[in-house]
Amino acid sequence: MSLQTLVEEASIPPASGSVSSIPFDSDSFNEAVMSTYGRFPLALEKGAGCRVWDTQGREYLDFVAGIATCTLGHAHPAMVEAVTRQIQKLHHVSNLYYIPEQGELAKWIIQHSCADRVFFCNSGAEANEAAIKLARKYAHTVLDIEKPIILTANASFHGRTLATITATGQPKYQKYFDPLVPGFHYVPYNDITAIETAISELDEGDYRVAAILLEPLQGEGGVRPGDVAYFQKLRQICDETGILLIFDEVQVGMGRSGHLWGYEHLGVEPDIFTSAKGLGGGIPIGAMMSKKFCAVFQPGEHASTFGGNPFVCGVALSVCQTLEKENILQNVCERGEQLRTGLKAIAAKYPQYISEVRGWGLINGMELAADISLTAGEVVNAAISEGLLLVPAGPKVVRFVPPLIVSQAEVDQALQAVDKVLAKITG
Ligand SMILES: *Cc1c(COP(=O)(O)O)cnc(C)c1O
Repeated sequence: MSLQTLVEEASIPPASGSVSSIPFDSDSFNEAVMSTYGRFPLALEKGAGCRVWDTQGREYLDFVAGIATCTLGHAHPAMVEAVTRQIQKLHHVSNLYYIPEQGELAKWIIQHSCADRVFFCNSGAEANEAAIKLARKYAHTVLDIEKPIILTANASFHGRTLATITATGQPKYQKYFDPLVPGFHYVPYNDITAIETAISELDEGDYRVAAILLEPLQGEGGVRPGDVAYFQKLRQICDETGILLIFDEVQVGMGRSGHLWGYEHLGVEPDIFTSAKGLGGGIPIGAMMSKKFCAVFQPGEHASTFGGNPFVCGVALSVCQTLEKENILQNVCERGEQLRTGLKAIAAKYPQYISEVRGWGLINGMELAADISLTAGEVVNAAISEGLLLVPAGPKVVRFVPPLIVSQAEVDQALQAVDKVLAKITG
């Protein structure tokens, strides 16, 4: 098949029922692939915009977007163009050399955030690892702390490497993987007294708090927005003590919240922040940003073979420019408002089943009542039967993270499907 045909194929939405299937059976899949995931019984093969098709040709409205990554949906012409152009030109050379695309993407991020410097890697966990290493070096060399401690929040999520599962304040991700990485301490989210107590109690001998790592809105932990007063007080404490304020923007950043960065909702700037999920529109890329004063890495102190290669940076830059050019943030605000209003109306119809609807922009959660047995997984399974893809955020929260290009009609269609699901479950 010629490249042109491939490109045309990718940008033309397939008709429902007419997808040519690759052979698929879940038994042989499960024998070959390590069983790290509990999967929904669905094999997806093709996508266009906010729609995907399974191997049977069945169509779904995609409100998962590859877990909040497919910023521009599937097969967006700008991505098809960027991927095609970049793979033909140059895709990987390593950081032994200057990579112009990497420089351009870094400049775009700096121009559109509070950051002064960018380090590129391949995932959210790696971006957080880089932030943890940077904070530790800063603690040793600038703050003169022998044994630096990083505070993180209960119910947080920061990734699956050893350091980032340790940073993650959820025991279920840590079980069986001890000994964990030393130097982390957990506090309740949105609780300023707990932070103040931890800072004063952990100041002993060689130990001292060096950094606070938080999500502006907790994603995996149940779509819980940060409290403005809490974060402003945190900024003040960090300014007074020299403690670094680090934000994990892996899920909420890159426009998903309706602002480009989640911290814009809180009216504070971090010293260091990380991005990944939405940054490449679904191409694997991670980034760690910092202010100039704490950009203390020297050559050789941190690295990634694939990090910031021409391919991912060329594509991510095109995603960023499209976000800006097509004024997608405005769509995120409007569609988010529409979605929350609709979900709240549904919640009002089923008050014994839904306890709260909350979120920012196009990251929203519908929390199920604590006193019933209904789980988010059950709602997601029922939604799949209605042709709508959703994803749980913890056992009791159903998460809505569609592509940022989602249309008014598509949000309406999703709301109708959710209403039908609730009618079935409660009826
Ligand atoms: C998904 C996520 C991560 C981990 O990203 P990976 O790319 O899976 O390593 C880290 N932090 C937050 C807030 C996330 O949502």
